[in-house]
Amino acid sequence: MNQNNTPDLCILGAGAAGLSVAAGAAQMGARVLLIEKGEMGGECLNSGCVPSKAILAAAHAAHTARTAQRFGIATGDVHVDYAAVQAHIQRVIATIAPVDSQERFEGLGCEVVRAPARFISADALEVAGRTIAAKRFVIATGSEPFIPPIPGLNDAPFLTNETIFTLPVAPAHLLIIGGGPIGCELAQAHARLGCSVTLVERGPIMPRDDSEAVDFVRQSLLADGVNVIENAQVVQVEHNPLALILADGQRLEGSHVLVAAGRAPRTQGYGLDAAAVVYTQAGIQVDARLRTRNKRIYALGDCRDGPRFTHAAGAEAGIILQNLLLRVPAKVNWHALPWVTFTEPELAQVGLTQAQAEAKFSPAQIQILRWPFHENDRAQAEGRTQGFVKVIVHKGRVVGATIVGPCAGEVIQTWTLAITQRLSLSALARFIAPYPTFAEANKRAVGSAFTKTLFSPRVKALVRLLLRLP
Ligand SMILES: Cc1cc2nc3c(=O)[nH]c(=O)nc-3n(C[C@H](O)[C@H](O)[C@H](O)COP(=O)(O)OP(=O)(O)OC[C@H]3O[C@@H](n4cnc5c(N)ncnc54)[C@H](O)[C@@H]3O)c2cc1C
Repeated sequence: MNQNNTPDLCILGAGAAGLSVAAGAAQMGARVLLIEKGEMGGECLNSGCVPSKAILAAAHAAHTARTAQRFGIATGDVHVDYAAVQAHIQRVIATIAPVDSQERFEGLGCEVVRAPARFISADALEVAGRTIAAKRFVIATGSEPFIPPIPGLNDAPFLTNETIFTLPVAPAHLLIIGGGPIGCELAQAHARLGCSVTLVERGPIMPRDDSEAVDFVRQSLLADGVNVIENAQVVQVEHNPLALILADGQRLEGSHVLVAAGRAPRTQGYGLDAAAVVYTQAGIQVDARLRTRNKRIYALGDCRDGPRFTHAAGAEAGIILQNLLLRVPAKVNWHALPWVTFTEPELAQVGLTQAQAEAKFSPAQIQILRWPFHENDRAQAEGRTQGFVKVIVHKGRVVGATIVGPCAGEVIQTWTLAITQRLSLSALARFIAPYPTFAEANKRAVGSAFTKTLFSPRVKALVRLLLRLP
């Protein structure tokens, strides 16, 4: 491919965010230069979503085998071959990788450069000995694991999501610092794969989610044998033997330490100051159109201040393409952003939680609709009855939904559409849900809003009257 130092668009980073912009822009006719210093596909493919879901699939399979007796199936002892599980993870990555590959993007018409880039001024960057003066730049440099400043941690051989998916041997006892979604997913995965797991969280686990729903995840982790220690601060890490020391003096020994204490946006080492791009510890500052302070430069994905999910980056890519290529002043709007934690039970959220709605609106204006999975026939058939659907309604419109239970990440999608399209409750009550599905719980939750009116004495009186007619 010919080298072009003045492309229409120069994108830094070929993770979920950069690739989404590059694919769209190239197919819409822009001349795109895509720069990646590491692996194509970034974190989601190589050390994030894909390997974490692949290890969870293996862990859930082990759990299903261990608990198959309740269906009358005898499996005998379940043996986990950790190296084979890791091979499964790498196979999944390798199967998906061509979609994110250099070859595919070159095929779409992008020029791909595999080297670190760095801004040298407000309108140019340097990469592989070239100076690139693009019409517009897009920063999609992602984030890295946040390493908390705990005395002793840096002297200890700790793991992060960047290293745990290539461990050749199962950790005998995994000590996890951090009980957010990543810490909880990896705690359950390793417990179900036969490791001892201790998870330490300085507050409650998964603090951004509905606390009632989180309790189902907590109970499930405990049932899997995870030692969940909440509201506890790790104040020191000892190296030999490896141990976490908590503020209350507890000493927790283990074979491996996994740091899952949040994300740090990548803002250093590639000349953001030279480019006059403003950033804080929370990430690159962008406006609703994803423009940085330097209007030639846009930023999206984990590197900017905002929600850090692959699908958030995908949504932002659409906003950037509209702004940059179509000159439509589209803006991001996160009011219907869903997210899912893939533990068993899964926990999915979209829009406001109950607590957020109660803080925002007066109690008289909100209605909480719910349906428990133990009253769902499919859940009964599969023995997966833990959890509920909870819907938050404000003045007749859905403003949020929380689902904890089987396939919550799939079942939540009805509510994402309902919030995005501002569907009324009566519109939601009219759709026909196939029987028996977990998603029927959505319809039953909506139906509960109408039960009182439909089966009221007034309706009964009206029906009796109408039945007298010939
Ligand atoms: C364990 C784990 C599980 C997760 N699970 C989910 C999930 O289930 N669902 C979900 O939606 N999200 C999940 N996430 C979050 C998701 O992975 C991120 O939101 C997403 O990967 C961010 O994409 P990005 O393109 O912004 O960043 P990245 O994927 O990090 O890509 C940034 C790229 O930029 C490159 N780069 C950086 N600096 C330069 C430079 N100067 N020059 C050239 N290249 C550079 C990097 O090498 C990197 O490849 C998970 C994250 C983790 C850690």
